[in-house]
Amino acid sequence: MLNRRKFISGSALGSVGLLMGKELRSAPRLAAPDLPLVVSTWDVGMDANRAAWDVLSQGGRALDAVEQGVRVTEDSLNCCVGLGGNPDRDGFVTLDACIMDEQGNCGSVAFLERIKHPVSVARRVMEKTPHVMLVGSGAQQFALAEGFPLESGILSEDAQRAYQQWLEKSNYTPPEKNIENKKQHGPFAPTRLASGEWNHDTIGMLALDQKGNLSGSCTTSGAGFKMRGRVGDSPLIGSGLFVDNEVGACVATGQGEEIIRIAGSHLVVEFMRSGLSPEQSCKKAIERLVQCRKDKLGDVQVCFLAIDRSGAIGSFALRPGFTYAVRARHEEKIYKSASWFGN
Ligand code: ASP
Repeated sequence: MLNRRKFISGSALGSVGLLMGKELRSAPRLAAPDLPLVVSTWDVGMDANRAAWDVLSQGGRALDAVEQGVRVTEDSLNCCVGLGGNPDRDGFVTLDACIMDEQGNCGSVAFLERIKHPVSVARRVMEKTPHVMLVGSGAQQFALAEGFPLESGILSEDAQRAYQQWLEKSNYTPPEKNIENKKQHGPFAPTRLASGEWNHDTIGMLALDQKGNLSGSCTTSGAGFKMRGRVGDSPLIGSGLFVDNEVGACVATGQGEEIIRIAGSHLVVEFMRSGLSPEQSCKKAIERLVQCRKDKLGDVQVCFLAIDRSGAIGSFALRPGFTYAVRARHEEKIYKSASWFGN
C-alpha cells in the first residue's frame, strides 16, 4: 500500500510547477532582514495571515500575531474552525486550541463549549494560571470569569444540515477498524470550506517576528461527529503545536489520533534540532508515522507545517491535498504541499 516509488516521485514533484493556482514547490528561505513571516495551514490561512501580518508588519510580537490571526478563522461561520464547525455525535460543537511563545510558555483548552475564541482563552490560561491546560466545564468557567461571553450553542445552518445528514446513519466505528464504513458516514467526516466544499477543520499558524522570535497557535472544532469528549492533537502541546525559539516551530493538521501517537509537532522540531530542514523534518515525521502504523492508516490524512528560526519554511503530508498560506514582505501565496503518496 505504501509505495516507495510513488513517494519518491511525489518528492520530486515538490520542486516544480503550478497547480490549481497554487505553487507546487518548497516555499523560499527568507533571509533575516526579510522578517517578519507568518505561515498557516490550508487555504483559510490566507485571511488569517492578513490579520497576523497587521501585527507583525508594525513590529508586533509573534505571539500577538498568531492569536489575532487565527481569531479571524474562529470568527468565520463559513469555516469549520470555531463555533461554525461540525458538532460531535450528540450535536454539540466542542473546541480545542493552544498557543505557545518564544520562551516556552504555553496554554491550552480542550472540550470547550459555547466560547467563540478558544485561542484567546488558551492564551489566558498561559498568562493567568499556573497551568498549561484546562478542559470542559472548567475551561468554560475560566473563560466566563475572564469575561468571554457565553454564546448560544446553536449550530450554524450548514453544520445543522450536515449533522441531520449524519444522523440518518449515525454509525460510529473507529476508522482504523472499518474504513469502508468511514467513507460513507463515519465519525471523521470532512468539514466545510468557505466555497461550500468540505475540508479539514483546523488552522495552525506559526510566526517569526522582526526580533526573530517564534510563536504558534492551533485551533479547531475537531473531527466532525466525534464521540462526545473526544480531544484531538490540536490542543496538545507537542502534538498539534510545538515551538522552540532556538530551533523552529511546527503545527499539525489531519487526523489527531495519528498525530498524537507520534507526538508529531515535537518530533518535527527535534528533527530540525538535529540539523534537518523544515521540509525534511516534516517528511521524516510522516515516515515515522508510516513506519509505526503501516497498514493501520486507512485513508486518513496527516500534515505538518514547520518553520525554522532563520525563516525557512517546509511542509509534508501523508496524502496529497494539503495546502498552506505564506505571508512575508514580498510574498502572499498558497502553496501545495508534497506528500508521501505524491501529488
Ligand atoms: N487535527 C484535528 C483533530 O484531530 C482535525 C483536523 O486537523 O482536521 O481534532
